[in-house]
Amino acid sequence: MVEGHSVHRIAVQHTRRLVGRRFRATSPNGRFAEGARLIDGRTFSRIEAIGKNLFAFFSAVGTPDVVMHVHFGMSGRWSVADAARAKPTTPTTRLTLEGDGIVSHLSAMTVDHGGVDFFETKRAALGHDPLRADADAEALWAKVSGSTKSIGSLLMDQSAFAGVGNIYRCEILNVARVHPEVKGNQLTRAQFDAIWAASVRLMEWGFTLGSIVTVSPEEAAAVGKPTLRRWLYNSARCGRCDGPVRSWQIQSRTCYACARCQPLDGAVAVPVDAAAPALFNSHCASESLEERLAQPQKLRVAELRAALEAAGLPAGGKKAELVARLDAHHQAGGATIRSARAAAADKAAVNESRAVEHIAEDEDFDDGAPEWVELPGGFEVPGGEEEDDALLQAAILDSLATPAKAKEAATDSRRKTKRAPATEKPKKRGKKGARAA
Ligand SMILES: [Zn+2]
Repeated sequence: MVEGHSVHRIAVQHTRRLVGRRFRATSPNGRFAEGARLIDGRTFSRIEAIGKNLFAFFSAVGTPDVVMHVHFGMSGRWSVADAARAKPTTPTTRLTLEGDGIVSHLSAMTVDHGGVDFFETKRAALGHDPLRADADAEALWAKVSGSTKSIGSLLMDQSAFAGVGNIYRCEILNVARVHPEVKGNQLTRAQFDAIWAASVRLMEWGFTLGSIVTVSPEEAAAVGKPTLRRWLYNSARCGRCDGPVRSWQIQSRTCYACARCQPLDGAVAVPVDAAAPALFNSHCASESLEERLAQPQKLRVAELRAALEAAGLPAGGKKAELVARLDAHHQAGGATIRSARAAAADKAAVNESRAVEHIAEDEDFDDGAPEWVELPGGFEVPGGEEEDDALLQAAILDSLATPAKAKEAATDSRRKTKRAPATEKPKKRGKKGARAA
């Protein structure tokens, strides 16, 4: 199953490559013919990841948006490439977008479409996504603590934890030291907090690295296994304690647990490294321009356009589209992520097939094959309340030109610090703007 971190990476990559452009849309295998006809020639105005689902918005002046919903299932792919490098379509290609020198092919288990209410209905059915700034851990705790289902089952329930798949389920519970068969209503609050913190941390590493790596280099060194990437998924022995791993089925998927690290008696202490997620931003009291930049719905249209232009993003469209685009930029902004090609090379280097994680991303551009892709983000506006659009734009441009300064300000005001388990560390790390604003 394509897990949530991979879906978020595609949203970020496609925001850079596809959003703001208009494409000729066709359905090579005919299975998305009506949808392709409806989005043909419209502007790809926004893309949003919620759990394992992608929602792509296509707009045209004077008509309601068309929303395409994508769920990859076990083995989808949404490629994007320079036209000269584009691969041919296959019998599973449901949608091809072409234009502006770009070709994008989509294959997925589910590709359907509707209007904005279709999106809202889908969204309402999805739970809390550890990779989204609007995830509500309190609401999730209320749901989990009232459930008689096992936590191993709840983690795979997309109306509870959205985006967690089978590999993460096993690894999150091992890191949180909770046995998968503990029922939701038997969990202590500390255990739930450890599970949520591990979900956020491990999936953010996955987002950054483009691979499911759940063991940091420091942890791997501490257990004397410097190449260890995961604690116990698909392993006979626990990477942490060398104890035997047991596996069985929960929700028709093989679950793994270490009896020593994850005993069922509930007497195990919560690991001290389970830092609570930074769900609240203590700097929200005032309404300075810097803070309004972090909450784009509070910006004026001219400010929105200036901020988008400064970030190298398209600045056209309705206010709601501009807000969504800047929001998406903020959510991904300030991060440095492993490029799709480098992530694929990382897997090849450890003889891991793409099928293990069911990778759905595929980028091929003539841009020097970077190892790391910087997603600009973090604005710093001197003087607080600055209303002049030209000055604002200059300030934003200046802040983007000095990422170290912007990063410092951003870390200070509205970001949490993160660590990614990279063998070769990116210059900048971390992702997401304020987790709550
Ligand atoms: Zn163990």
